Amino acid sequence: QYKNKLEDALAFIRSAERFLVVSHVQPDGDAISSTLTVGWLLKQLGKAAVLINEGTVPSRLAYMEASGTIMTFNEEEPPTAYDAIIAVDCADFRRIGLVAGSFPEGIPLLNIDHHPTNDDFGTVNLIRTDAAATVEILHDLIEYAEIPFDQEVATAIYTGLLTDTGGFRYSNTNASVMRIASRMLEQDVQGHWIADHLLERMTKSQLLLLQRGLNRLSFSADNRIAWIYIAYADMAETGAIGDDLEGLVNYARNVEGVEVGILFKETENGDVKVSMRSVGQADVAAIAQTFGGGGHVRAAGCKLNGPISEAITAVIDTVRKALGS
Ligand code: 5GP
Ligand code: MN
Ligand code: MN
Repeated sequence: QYKNKLEDALAFIRSAERFLVVSHVQPDGDAISSTLTVGWLLKQLGKAAVLINEGTVPSRLAYMEASGTIMTFNEEEPPTAYDAIIAVDCADFRRIGLVAGSFPEGIPLLNIDHHPTNDDFGTVNLIRTDAAATVEILHDLIEYAEIPFDQEVATAIYTGLLTDTGGFRYSNTNASVMRIASRMLEQDVQGHWIADHLLERMTKSQLLLLQRGLNRLSFSADNRIAWIYIAYADMAETGAIGDDLEGLVNYARNVEGVEVGILFKETENGDVKVSMRSVGQADVAAIAQTFGGGGHVRAAGCKLNGPISEAITAVIDTVRKALGS
């Protein structure tokens, strides 16, 4: 029962004093917003917290002032002096990345997440796979703890909902999401500004990267699969950073008749990061899992060894089989 799970999570938080709060590598809007929301909650409860991520906070999320308090992990100086960990928006332990390598053996961990592929890696697990975003679960936790919302936390919760629902458009957008978003707007969240800033504005590098991606847009013979690839050199040549890849996969997904859209991104060491989006019946989380990744039915990802041409062939073959084509 959900109430009991909220109670267990709250009991976990009450039982420790100093927390480390982590989320997944290459943090997205929900990952950063969830980290900040937990940080805010801990502060309200009089707890000490260190917020950390393997990567840096995407600059477009810097309007949430507290995002400046999220430290970037440094292997030379790992965080110390905490007695419990809270992981948010991580489907499995590996998603925490390098930060996890610094955890003391046997430290209690609270796992708060909404991915259907979550494997209950925590000591205590607060998982709701029908939540649109991890911030939705955190909203429920704050409400359950009877702590009043303010503009700061409402902005983080609204941001996580907006980004994980693709601007309140994906199939996870439901009455509960809208109800929570509405309550957050009552806290003077600048919804219009955030939507414009996160969903409409593009950097020049982002557009140049899109130009290259579209040049390489490819289709399966039956047009049910479309994909784009970005070579590592494209990043430097367009001045793009990792964040500029966000949303690129949708250009493949959005083509009429396409059921699975895929983005292949070559990394510095030649590995390939794969982002998959499904509009039809295909379960891309299951496909991603066959390559050691995971995610949601309609949005999932995984990593493969290079070279990129072989990774593309392997993934397209698997998707084709899943589609029965
Ligand atoms: P994206 O394609 O935007 O990177 O990720 C889409 C969804 O798939 C997200 O919910 C993300 O958590 C999940 N995902 C992406 N890459 C991986 C991966 O390598 N492993 C797992 N377990 N999930 C992933
Ligand atoms: Mn995420
Ligand atoms: Mn999420």
